[in-house]
Amino acid sequence: MFQLSELANYHLCKRCSGRVFAYHGHGISNLDRGEYLRFAIGCEIGDPDFSFSDPENCQVCHGIFDRFEDLYDLVMKKIDGAQYKTFLVGSVFSEDTIRTEEEIQKRFGSTGESIKKEFNREFGKYFSARTGKEYSQDNPDLTIMVNAEYLFAEVKIRSVYIYGKYRKFRRDMPQTRWIHRPDGDTVESVIGSVLVRYAEGTNYYLHGSGREDVDVRMLGNGREFVLEIENPKYREFDLRAATLEINASGNGVEVLDLRFAERNEVSEVKLEKHNKVYDALIVSDSPVDEKRLSDACLNLAGKNIYQRTPLRVAQRRSDLVRTRHIDQVDLVGVSGNEAEIVISAEAGTYIKELVNGDGGRTKPSLSELYGSPLNIKELDVIKICRGED
Ligand SMILES: [Zn+2]
Repeated sequence: MFQLSELANYHLCKRCSGRVFAYHGHGISNLDRGEYLRFAIGCEIGDPDFSFSDPENCQVCHGIFDRFEDLYDLVMKKIDGAQYKTFLVGSVFSEDTIRTEEEIQKRFGSTGESIKKEFNREFGKYFSARTGKEYSQDNPDLTIMVNAEYLFAEVKIRSVYIYGKYRKFRRDMPQTRWIHRPDGDTVESVIGSVLVRYAEGTNYYLHGSGREDVDVRMLGNGREFVLEIENPKYREFDLRAATLEINASGNGVEVLDLRFAERNEVSEVKLEKHNKVYDALIVSDSPVDEKRLSDACLNLAGKNIYQRTPLRVAQRRSDLVRTRHIDQVDLVGVSGNEAEIVISAEAGTYIKELVNGDGGRTKPSLSELYGSPLNIKELDVIKICRGED
């Protein structure tokens, strides 16, 4: 056992003394606890004027709880006008502080709380009172990290997410930036460069619900995406104005249904698998036989096909055979060596290979059923079947 008066052997302030017994007595602060201890120790040693160390001489806190105003100013400088509703406080104390506190608390029965815990709570209360913002553990807009040893603060701003759908009217544009060409237009850069400016963020990423090939247009109801903007100064801004600006930019990309989103929608959008409807312009070496092609289309509709990973993507995807269902294939028209068909197919079907057969790696294929080679000249996604329309 210990004598309370042994606390007087350490250089502790009233608050840090109270914190040694933080789990005794609910609803009172460590400062109040310290005051009771001061009184009890005074009685024990027969000195009614006994007092603990001043905070600045305290061997644990070194007076950090009296520096809230300075810390507040440091944090506000870092926030630099960024918009936020919720925040969280974290802190770093020196190893020496942590170890000293643990040793003292162990001596007195290990019923204390850590200085970190009290600091985060108390500075959080102070910060909330001064800013009117809400302290939140759950996905805060801002995470404030105070270094109590060297007196500096860092602020991490949560990304802002914007959900939408895009249409792409060009046959020379990749979806995202770095893979194909770092400098040219991409769906990501056309959308992101506008939104990042509205948010005054530092960078952006487009998370798409799948992707179309560079040379495939994305029409109809558009492809879903979530755009992430890092370090945004503004978390709310005029998405209607941003939509108009993107759509008027003449870059061949349009967005629709933009709205602010949560981070979990990134994975939701990425995991979605929807059937798609394609409009394909196909070409043959010789004039297309309408009857034969029409029969081939009918033959393919409603079938399962087996697609081994196409050679053109084999470097990026594992080599395996996928089964895909082809719902419908309609011949729209024939003109000389060309024909237009509309295909409804399961998510993940390689349409170019469905038509050309990929050297026998896709079976059956339209070429095989038609009886001579067919290739896709132009391909558009005209609908993504999300069950909303
Ligand atoms: Zn202290």
